[in-house]
Amino acid sequence: MYQILIGLEIHAELLTNSKIFCSCSTQFGKEANTQCCPVCLGLPGSLPVLNKKVIEFAIQSGIAMNCEITKKSFMDRKNYFYPDLPKAYQISQYEDPLCKDGYIEIEKDKKVKKIGIQRIHIEEDAGKSIHEKDYSLVDYNRCGLPLIEIVTKPHMNSSKEAYLFLENLKSILEYIEVSDCKMEEGSLRCDVNINVVSSDMVKTNIVELKNLNSFKAVAKAIEYEEKRHISLLEKGENTKKETRRWDEHKNMTIPMRSKEYVQDYRYFKDPDLVMIHIDKDWIEGMKKNIPELPKDKKSRFIKDYHLPDYDAKVLTSSRKIADFFEEVVKYFSDFKLVSNFIMTEVYRVLKEKNITIEDIKIKPKDLGELLTFIQKGMISNHIGKKIFKKMCISGETPRNIIENKGLIQISDENSIKEMIQKVINENPQSIEDYKNGKDKALGFLVGQVMKESRGKANPKLVNQYLNKMI
Ligand SMILES: [Zn+2]
Repeated sequence: MYQILIGLEIHAELLTNSKIFCSCSTQFGKEANTQCCPVCLGLPGSLPVLNKKVIEFAIQSGIAMNCEITKKSFMDRKNYFYPDLPKAYQISQYEDPLCKDGYIEIEKDKKVKKIGIQRIHIEEDAGKSIHEKDYSLVDYNRCGLPLIEIVTKPHMNSSKEAYLFLENLKSILEYIEVSDCKMEEGSLRCDVNINVVSSDMVKTNIVELKNLNSFKAVAKAIEYEEKRHISLLEKGENTKKETRRWDEHKNMTIPMRSKEYVQDYRYFKDPDLVMIHIDKDWIEGMKKNIPELPKDKKSRFIKDYHLPDYDAKVLTSSRKIADFFEEVVKYFSDFKLVSNFIMTEVYRVLKEKNITIEDIKIKPKDLGELLTFIQKGMISNHIGKKIFKKMCISGETPRNIIENKGLIQISDENSIKEMIQKVINENPQSIEDYKNGKDKALGFLVGQVMKESRGKANPKLVNQYLNKMI
């Protein structure tokens, strides 16, 4: 038997307007090297000034993750040379992180498990190297972007637990609006520390995994490493203490370099920056600004809206989706129907168009109206979904679309019977088949009536009348 021990190091870019030590913009996707100044390029004589918002965002993250907040903190220099780091040191925090000893809860198989947070500290990002075939380029726009690094304790014991932890962490950071957590833009990055212990307490060396571009990649890399560590132990060998890169195409980890030791970085306090003093009132003020967090929102959704656990979890995984749900139910009070519609139709549109709920043009009030029309039988479910898609693009009200396109469901007995009679007259063979016991023929006839009505006939009534009229 083996136990796998996993700890994570997550870097999240903070949503400040300016960088951590200068007033350069933090906007993503600008032309290379256009958002730099002497401070973030580390030119001689320039002096950094710490952005207050960065401290606040880090402390808010710490509060949301149940951490202890330090009263006195310092910035340290982490020394290493790399072309994307013009100062040859990164300003980070070593001995005095802003937050420590917290936890995030995950829920697996109906059991709650606390994953310890060792520390949260602030630091500056480095630039970005772009490697071409026979040369490399460096973009310094990213230099000095504010980051928090969240380091967990090795409390996760499977890829699934690591995945759940990351999902919860991301949703907390999004809820408190300190990071947009876009892995594809690099605003959320995750490294994994992993090793394996056998039942007779033989341990493999800790291996660090990098280049993980999605939560799925994190899970896959963990599973690959778990097997690799166990097979080495079974051969009586051990892993090298090293950093490995996840190769997405080969689906395997590849050695990158031997792992650095802390002494390699020659940490020391940055003499250009003063002590950070955090008083009680400041912390209390920040606590007041923490909104309802995902876990509490989920419990409230179950209690107030009588939603199943699964629905509540899906809806509250994003604060914006949860807000949208709560707006819609102001206009349409069948909570479960709203939940179903959001989890299927709304999510489908978001996925298809690769957009977020904020980009969708539909107003909660209009969705409430659309659901009312479906519930009253004015339009069929099928047409309702079509109207919804149109609403998402044009922002039109459902009433407008229905009236302009003449989509009101036909529930008038005489009109439906007229259409059925026409279909009966035109399809004697199917009537014959049906009478001879071929049930399929009925489905065909219903289809023909629906076609005749251009999808507008109430399908329930068509079935009902058709049965009687044959
Ligand atoms: Zn700058």
